[in-house]
Amino acid sequence: MYFDSHAHLTNLETFVHIDEIIKHAQEAHVLRIANICTDFDSLQKGVDLQKKYPWIVNTAATTPHDVEKEGEEFFPIVEKYAKEKKLAAIGETGLDYFYEHSPRKIQQEFLCRYFSLAEKLKLPVVIHCREAFSDLFKLADECGFTQPTVLHCFTGTVEEAKRVVDRGWYLSLSGIVTFKKSEALREVASYVPLHQLLIETDTPYLAPQSKRGKANEPAFIEETAKVIADTKKIPLSTLAEATFKNACKFFSLEKHPPVV
Ligand SMILES: [Zn+2]
Repeated sequence: MYFDSHAHLTNLETFVHIDEIIKHAQEAHVLRIANICTDFDSLQKGVDLQKKYPWIVNTAATTPHDVEKEGEEFFPIVEKYAKEKKLAAIGETGLDYFYEHSPRKIQQEFLCRYFSLAEKLKLPVVIHCREAFSDLFKLADECGFTQPTVLHCFTGTVEEAKRVVDRGWYLSLSGIVTFKKSEALREVASYVPLHQLLIETDTPYLAPQSKRGKANEPAFIEETAKVIADTKKIPLSTLAEATFKNACKFFSLEKHPPVV
Protein backbone atom coordinates (compact mmCIF):
# COMPACT_ATOMS: atom_id res chain seq x y z
CA MET A 1 0.00 0.00 0.00
CA TYR A 2 1.22 3.46 -0.88
CA PHE A 3 0.58 7.00 0.29
CA ASP A 4 1.24 9.53 -2.46
CA SER A 5 2.02 12.51 -0.24
CA HIS A 6 1.96 15.12 -3.01
CA ALA A 7 -0.18 15.13 -6.17
CA HIS A 8 -1.97 17.89 -8.04
CA LEU A 9 -5.14 15.93 -8.86
CA THR A 10 -7.38 18.92 -9.34
CA ASN A 11 -5.26 21.11 -11.53
CA LEU A 12 -6.75 21.52 -14.98
CA GLU A 13 -4.68 19.06 -16.99
CA THR A 14 -5.04 16.21 -14.47
CA PHE A 15 -8.66 16.79 -13.60
CA VAL A 16 -9.88 16.03 -17.14
CA HIS A 17 -8.96 12.36 -16.56
CA ILE A 18 -9.62 12.23 -12.83
CA ASP A 19 -11.79 9.09 -12.55
CA GLU A 20 -9.39 7.12 -14.72
CA ILE A 21 -6.42 8.37 -12.68
CA ILE A 22 -8.13 7.40 -9.42
CA LYS A 23 -8.93 3.95 -10.81
CA HIS A 24 -5.29 3.43 -11.84
CA ALA A 25 -4.17 4.57 -8.39
CA GLN A 26 -6.44 2.08 -6.64
CA GLU A 27 -5.25 -0.74 -8.93
CA ALA A 28 -1.66 0.19 -8.03
CA HIS A 29 -2.42 -0.02 -4.26
CA VAL A 30 -2.24 3.72 -3.69
CA LEU A 31 -4.62 3.90 -0.74
CA ARG A 32 -4.15 7.53 0.17
CA ILE A 33 -3.29 10.70 -1.73
CA ALA A 34 -2.63 14.23 -0.51
CA ASN A 35 -4.06 16.52 -3.16
CA ILE A 36 -2.17 19.81 -3.30
CA CYS A 37 -4.47 22.72 -4.20
CA THR A 38 -2.81 25.87 -5.44
CA ASP A 39 -5.78 28.13 -6.25
CA PHE A 40 -9.50 28.51 -5.61
CA ASP A 41 -10.56 26.33 -8.53
CA SER A 42 -8.34 23.38 -7.61
CA LEU A 43 -9.38 23.73 -3.95
CA GLN A 44 -13.11 23.66 -4.69
CA LYS A 45 -12.64 20.64 -6.92
CA GLY A 46 -10.50 19.06 -4.19
CA VAL A 47 -13.25 19.44 -1.58
CA ASP A 48 -15.74 17.79 -3.96
CA LEU A 49 -13.23 15.06 -4.80
CA GLN A 50 -12.83 14.24 -1.11
CA LYS A 51 -16.59 13.83 -0.77
CA LYS A 52 -16.46 11.21 -3.52
CA TYR A 53 -13.20 9.62 -2.37
CA PRO A 54 -12.89 10.13 1.41
CA TRP A 55 -9.38 8.61 1.45
CA ILE A 56 -8.04 11.66 -0.39
CA VAL A 57 -7.02 14.68 1.69
CA ASN A 58 -6.50 18.26 0.57
CA THR A 59 -3.90 20.89 1.34
CA ALA A 60 -3.87 24.47 0.04
CA ALA A 61 -1.66 27.52 -0.43
CA THR A 62 -0.40 29.68 -3.26
CA THR A 63 2.94 28.32 -4.56
CA PRO A 64 6.00 30.54 -4.13
CA HIS A 65 5.95 31.01 -7.93
CA ASP A 66 2.53 32.65 -7.91
CA VAL A 67 2.43 34.61 -4.65
CA GLU A 68 3.08 37.95 -6.31
CA LYS A 69 -0.03 37.70 -8.50
CA GLU A 70 -2.35 35.40 -6.54
CA GLY A 71 -1.14 35.26 -2.95
CA GLU A 72 -3.20 38.09 -1.47
CA GLU A 73 -6.48 36.95 -2.96
CA PHE A 74 -6.11 33.27 -2.05
CA PHE A 75 -4.77 33.67 1.50
CA PRO A 76 -8.11 34.41 3.24
CA ILE A 77 -9.69 31.48 1.38
CA VAL A 78 -6.98 29.12 2.61
CA GLU A 79 -7.50 30.51 6.10
CA LYS A 80 -11.28 29.95 5.91
CA TYR A 81 -11.01 26.36 4.63
CA ALA A 82 -8.32 25.57 7.19
CA LYS A 83 -10.53 26.85 10.01
CA GLU A 84 -13.41 24.75 8.68
CA LYS A 85 -11.09 21.72 8.98
CA LYS A 86 -11.22 21.02 5.26
CA LEU A 87 -7.42 20.97 4.97
CA ALA A 88 -5.01 18.32 6.24
CA ALA A 89 -2.07 20.72 5.82
CA ILE A 90 -1.05 24.16 4.61
CA GLY A 91 0.98 24.11 1.41
CA GLU A 92 2.72 24.01 -0.84
CA THR A 93 4.32 27.22 0.30
CA GLY A 94 8.00 28.05 0.45
CA LEU A 95 10.83 29.70 -1.43
CA ASP A 96 12.07 29.18 -4.97
CA TYR A 97 15.19 31.23 -5.69
CA PHE A 98 16.00 29.09 -8.73
CA TYR A 99 13.09 30.27 -10.88
CA GLU A 100 12.30 33.36 -8.80
CA HIS A 101 8.99 33.88 -10.59
CA SER A 102 7.91 36.09 -7.67
CA PRO A 103 10.31 38.49 -5.91
CA ARG A 104 12.14 36.88 -2.96
CA LYS A 105 10.71 39.38 -0.48
CA ILE A 106 7.13 38.53 -1.40
CA GLN A 107 7.86 34.78 -1.24
CA GLN A 108 9.31 35.29 2.26
CA GLU A 109 6.35 37.37 3.38
CA PHE A 110 3.82 34.72 2.34
CA LEU A 111 5.88 31.89 3.77
CA CYS A 112 5.78 33.67 7.14
CA ARG A 113 2.05 34.29 6.87
CA TYR A 114 1.45 30.62 6.13
CA PHE A 115 3.78 29.58 8.96
CA SER A 116 1.80 31.78 11.37
CA LEU A 117 -1.53 30.43 10.13
CA ALA A 118 -0.35 26.82 10.49
CA GLU A 119 1.05 27.54 13.94
CA LYS A 120 -2.23 29.12 15.05
CA LEU A 121 -4.36 26.25 13.72
CA LYS A 122 -1.82 23.52 14.57
CA LEU A 123 -1.60 22.26 11.01
CA PRO A 124 1.43 20.72 9.30
CA VAL A 125 3.09 22.53 6.39
CA VAL A 126 4.17 21.26 2.96
CA ILE A 127 7.23 23.16 1.78
CA HIS A 128 8.60 23.77 -1.70
CA CYS A 129 12.20 24.94 -1.45
CA ARG A 130 14.73 25.41 -4.20
CA GLU A 131 18.12 26.99 -3.60
CA ALA A 132 16.82 28.75 -0.51
CA PHE A 133 17.46 26.45 2.45
CA SER A 134 19.24 28.99 4.66
CA ASP A 135 16.42 31.52 4.35
CA LEU A 136 13.82 28.79 4.89
CA PHE A 137 15.37 27.72 8.20
CA LYS A 138 15.93 31.32 9.27
CA LEU A 139 12.30 32.30 8.59
CA ALA A 140 10.93 29.21 10.34
CA ASP A 141 12.93 30.20 13.45
CA GLU A 142 12.00 33.88 13.23
CA CYS A 143 8.30 32.98 12.95
CA GLY A 144 8.55 30.63 15.93
CA PHE A 145 7.19 27.87 13.73
CA THR A 146 7.01 24.44 15.42
CA GLN A 147 4.46 22.33 13.50
CA PRO A 148 5.32 19.17 11.50
CA THR A 149 6.93 20.05 8.17
CA VAL A 150 7.79 18.20 4.99
CA LEU A 151 10.23 19.31 2.33
CA HIS A 152 8.40 18.10 -0.75
CA CYS A 153 10.23 16.89 -3.87
CA PHE A 154 13.56 17.23 -2.12
CA THR A 155 16.46 17.73 -4.54
CA GLY A 156 19.08 19.20 -2.20
CA THR A 157 22.41 17.80 -1.06
CA VAL A 158 23.11 15.33 1.76
CA GLU A 159 24.24 18.30 3.91
CA GLU A 160 20.94 20.08 3.30
CA ALA A 161 19.05 16.84 3.98
CA LYS A 162 20.90 16.57 7.27
CA ARG A 163 19.75 20.05 8.29
CA VAL A 164 16.16 19.06 7.51
CA VAL A 165 16.45 15.78 9.43
CA ASP A 166 18.13 17.48 12.42
CA ARG A 167 15.08 19.74 12.74
CA GLY A 168 12.86 16.68 12.94
CA TRP A 169 11.21 17.59 9.62
CA TYR A 170 10.20 15.09 6.96
CA LEU A 171 11.72 14.86 3.56
CA SER A 172 9.74 13.63 0.55
CA LEU A 173 11.29 12.08 -2.55
CA SER A 174 9.69 12.14 -6.00
CA GLY A 175 10.30 10.35 -9.33
CA ILE A 176 13.48 12.42 -9.75
CA VAL A 177 15.24 9.82 -7.59
CA THR A 178 14.67 7.27 -10.40
CA PHE A 179 16.36 9.34 -13.11
CA LYS A 180 19.64 7.92 -14.41
CA LYS A 181 21.60 11.03 -13.52
CA SER A 182 20.23 11.33 -9.98
CA GLU A 183 23.18 9.64 -8.22
CA ALA A 184 23.44 12.49 -5.69
CA LEU A 185 19.76 12.25 -4.81
CA ARG A 186 20.06 8.48 -4.31
CA GLU A 187 22.78 9.28 -1.77
CA VAL A 188 20.22 11.45 0.00
CA ALA A 189 17.73 8.54 -0.18
CA SER A 190 20.16 6.19 1.50
CA TYR A 191 20.96 8.82 4.16
CA VAL A 192 17.44 9.88 5.25
CA PRO A 193 16.21 7.92 8.28
CA LEU A 194 13.22 5.79 7.30
CA HIS A 195 11.00 7.37 9.97
CA GLN A 196 11.43 10.83 8.39
CA LEU A 197 10.84 9.82 4.79
CA LEU A 198 7.75 10.34 2.62
CA ILE A 199 7.24 9.53 -1.06
CA GLU A 200 5.28 11.40 -3.70
CA THR A 201 4.60 11.66 -7.41
CA ASP A 202 4.00 15.44 -7.76
CA THR A 203 1.43 14.42 -10.39
CA PRO A 204 1.21 15.51 -13.22
CA TYR A 205 4.90 16.47 -13.18
CA LEU A 206 8.09 14.44 -12.80
CA ALA A 207 7.06 11.02 -14.11
CA PRO A 208 9.63 8.36 -13.12
CA GLN A 209 12.37 7.13 -15.45
CA SER A 210 10.34 4.49 -17.35
CA LYS A 211 7.47 6.97 -17.93
CA ARG A 212 9.53 10.09 -18.68
CA GLY A 213 7.78 12.54 -20.96
CA LYS A 214 4.33 11.25 -19.93
CA ALA A 215 1.91 12.93 -17.55
CA ASN A 216 2.62 11.50 -14.12
CA GLU A 217 -0.03 9.70 -12.00
CA PRO A 218 -0.15 8.43 -8.41
CA ALA A 219 -0.21 4.90 -9.92
CA PHE A 220 3.43 5.38 -10.95
CA ILE A 221 4.67 5.76 -7.36
CA GLU A 222 5.90 2.16 -7.06
CA GLU A 223 8.85 2.78 -9.38
CA THR A 224 10.08 5.55 -7.07
CA ALA A 225 9.50 3.36 -4.01
CA LYS A 226 11.47 0.50 -5.59
CA VAL A 227 14.50 2.66 -6.33
CA ILE A 228 14.52 4.05 -2.78
CA ALA A 229 14.10 0.57 -1.25
CA ASP A 230 16.97 -0.76 -3.40
CA THR A 231 19.14 2.21 -2.44
CA LYS A 232 18.39 1.65 1.23
CA LYS A 233 18.80 -2.12 0.83
CA ILE A 234 15.45 -2.83 2.47
CA PRO A 235 12.39 -4.75 1.19
CA LEU A 236 9.93 -2.73 -0.88
CA SER A 237 7.14 -3.63 1.56
CA THR A 238 9.12 -2.17 4.48
CA LEU A 239 9.62 1.10 2.58
CA ALA A 240 5.97 1.22 1.50
CA GLU A 241 4.67 0.58 5.00
CA ALA A 242 7.00 3.05 6.72
CA THR A 243 6.29 5.89 4.29
CA PHE A 244 2.55 5.18 4.54
CA LYS A 245 2.70 5.33 8.32
CA ASN A 246 4.83 8.49 8.28
CA ALA A 247 2.43 10.29 5.95
CA CYS A 248 -0.58 9.25 8.07
CA LYS A 249 1.18 10.66 11.11
CA PHE A 250 2.15 13.84 9.28
CA PHE A 251 -1.38 14.54 8.02
CA SER A 252 -2.96 13.31 11.32
CA LEU A 253 -4.88 10.42 9.74
CA GLU A 254 -5.83 7.02 10.98
CA LYS A 255 -3.46 4.33 9.85
CA HIS A 256 -6.16 2.73 7.70
CA PRO A 257 -8.11 4.69 5.13
CA PRO A 258 -11.90 4.72 5.43
CA VAL A 259 -13.68 1.99 3.49
CA VAL A 260 -14.97 3.53 0.28
ZN1 LIG B 1 3.66 20.39 -6.13
